[in-house]
Amino acid sequence: MALPKNAYFRGKIVPYSEAKVGVATNALHYGTAVFGGLRGYWNENKAKLFIFRPFDHYQRFLRSSRMMCMNLEQDEENLIQLTIDLLRVDGYQEDVYIRPLAYKAEEGVGVRLQGVPDELTIFSIPFGRYVSNDTGAHVTFSSWRRIDDNTIPARGKVSGAYANSALIKTDAVRAGFDEALVLDQSGHVSEGSAMNVFMVREDVLITPPVTDNILEGITRKSIIELARNELGIEVVERSIDRTEVFICDEFFMTGTAAQVTAVTKVDHREIGAGEMGPITGKLRQMFDEIVRGKYPKYEKWLAEV
Ligand code: PMP
Repeated sequence: MALPKNAYFRGKIVPYSEAKVGVATNALHYGTAVFGGLRGYWNENKAKLFIFRPFDHYQRFLRSSRMMCMNLEQDEENLIQLTIDLLRVDGYQEDVYIRPLAYKAEEGVGVRLQGVPDELTIFSIPFGRYVSNDTGAHVTFSSWRRIDDNTIPARGKVSGAYANSALIKTDAVRAGFDEALVLDQSGHVSEGSAMNVFMVREDVLITPPVTDNILEGITRKSIIELARNELGIEVVERSIDRTEVFICDEFFMTGTAAQVTAVTKVDHREIGAGEMGPITGKLRQMFDEIVRGKYPKYEKWLAEV
């Protein structure tokens, strides 16, 4: 994978090779960091880069940081401006992924959060598709369970919790699947390794509630709004049982990286007609047009670099 060109690090934009931390850094040992993941979409006609919902992403980032007893000096607007400054220096004329990270920066030994200083870094890299099979993914139910809110908050993007996601993804891919669905401790479907999930049953769009150990996804929130307001579909947030996935009409996953990924098979069972369903297709297309600035009503979701 290509390295970032630059990074925002210790208060300024520096070449990536200068953005380094010591091996004794607290966050490296204990996972005491929080991060975000945003996308910038290159609009060919306007010859401009647009960031998708940066305010919402940075609001969640700051909330995640508070869960980990961090005290960042920046607010959402400051973080958006830092990101725009960085992207202007990077100068990519293609789709990018943007990664802000706030981490417990003390160098030394000791598991704790209080009294440990925080640092902020941001970098971007060119980024295309994340799930290669995104119009017909084959997923499995992971044998791992989703971390519980009383273990590590799943609603925040806490670095340490991504050991859970990495185990889930690795075992799924090694077993020949594209992705995995994860059950929480109560046995309900929570999400994928790094994406929220939706199913269609009898024309109703159903997704787990934010109290079922999911990340409060920005793409999830966008899809709920689009389904209700643009397609006039009923959306219900409720727990999902494992066997409902076997018998639903359509299933898809959403995330900044995954965008709208259709799932057509779960553990060798075909979902619905075994191909991307009509509601998934419509939402996928609409989402793609919106993020590329081709849908004036939703330009409010985009920030120009
Ligand atoms: N769940 C998890 C565990 C994730 O890491 C992500 C990616 N951020 C998502 C869901 C999707 O969230 P979003 O749409 O905000 O990218």
